[in-house]
Amino acid sequence: MKRYHLTTFGCQMNAHDSERIKGMLEELGLGEAVDQADADVMVFNTCTIREKPDQRFAAHLAQARALKEHDADKVIAVGGCYAEAQRERLFQLYPFVDVAFGPGTIPHLGEWLGAGGEGVARGSFGIGEERSFAGVLPMHRERRFQAWVQVSMGCNSKCAYCIVPSVRGREVSRRPGEVVAEITRLAREGVREITLLGQNVNSWGRDLAPDVRTDFGELLRACDSVAGIERIRFTSPHPKDFRDPVIAALAECEAVCEHVHLPLQSGSSRILKAMRRTYDRDRYLRLVDRLRAAVPDVALGTDIIVGFPGETEEDFAETLAVVQEVRYDSAFTFVFSPRGGTEAAGMPDQVPDDVKRDRIERLIAVVQRIAAERNAERIGRTEEVLVEGPSRTDSSLLRGRTRRNTTVNFAGDADAGDLVDVAIEGATSTTLRGRQAALVAA
Ligand code: SAM
Ligand code: SF4
Repeated sequence: MKRYHLTTFGCQMNAHDSERIKGMLEELGLGEAVDQADADVMVFNTCTIREKPDQRFAAHLAQARALKEHDADKVIAVGGCYAEAQRERLFQLYPFVDVAFGPGTIPHLGEWLGAGGEGVARGSFGIGEERSFAGVLPMHRERRFQAWVQVSMGCNSKCAYCIVPSVRGREVSRRPGEVVAEITRLAREGVREITLLGQNVNSWGRDLAPDVRTDFGELLRACDSVAGIERIRFTSPHPKDFRDPVIAALAECEAVCEHVHLPLQSGSSRILKAMRRTYDRDRYLRLVDRLRAAVPDVALGTDIIVGFPGETEEDFAETLAVVQEVRYDSAFTFVFSPRGGTEAAGMPDQVPDDVKRDRIERLIAVVQRIAAERNAERIGRTEEVLVEGPSRTDSSLLRGRTRRNTTVNFAGDADAGDLVDVAIEGATSTTLRGRQAALVAA
């Protein structure tokens, strides 16, 4: 049996695309190799959101090249956003790559392997016009009780720093019937938690044909009504698309978890304008108030970029002030990374690296202090936890996630996939610690 090895970089959308790539390869009869060295087909699902993933991919590809030098029959396949961004030069840069495909052209890999015989028709790239949902491919899911469900692909926003629209194209929503049918099938297979995925997930539905046009709030309600689905998450939403019907659905749907990822990017209205985020500081803060009024115990996460071109110390101070005012439960923090072809890459007043580094360190310190305080507030409460397996740090403990999306390590005897009540006894900035309630009572 031929075997494949897949390395994934980047976001949840890529992780989900990788489940489809694996499913497709397994349908073609390939088995999964644990080590890259044992694989006949080495696949990379790449990310290019910042320079760092580009560099990590280059290092991994060098290893694959070395393996191929020992065995010329091995196939190297490169997919994802970096491949799409470099589609014109990929085979020049890396002549040892056999086949490449973008996020919308995953089936090309299967067609290439199926038709050409491995290593024969080299050097072809999936064609953009074939862009289609990975949702139509078979899927290899890592956990039987959790699943990602792609509801849209692409993005119509024009955030000045972001390469996503140019590599994933304009937004296309999946039809609601198709999404609900997939979730119903997943529920029958034992899935209890779904995460709806889209680059701009809450703008879902606007591009649908008039006969099925609806909005993200209605989609949440439809998912909530599927029997067996006990938790619904979604990512990544855009603050501009949290309209009243969406907030009402968050408040009213029992399965929708009390967790919202609300990318801030900057706390300075001047920088937000230059970023083309379409909201300012005050509008963002009003949205936080509306969400907290509708869902009182909601956990808020965010994405923040420091060092966007032209960002002054005063702008950065405004970002710190918003972080202190909102008190996020978690935050992903990024140093601005110029991406070829984006508006921000060509802007004057690029911020020097040492200033960016200093700002990110100061930001992380504030984010971590607040996250630790927020988590400490949970001590003494009982949280519903979906058990995911043994703890990564202590195998005598179990690991799971609260509805508010915090990881909990706890003493207990439940099985993966169970929902249990856990008494929270300790906290760090990223995790909680506790004891399964049944054991507490014993
Ligand atoms: N569609 C999502 C959104 O709008 O939030 C996710 C976009 S991206 C995968 C995730 C995060 O990466 C963004 O929210 C942004 O904070 C960050 N990011 C995007 N481009 C970046 C860049 N050029 N430099 C640094 N961070 C960047
Ligand atoms: Fe990128 Fe902005 Fe679209 Fe998010 S909303 S994917 S940051 S362009």
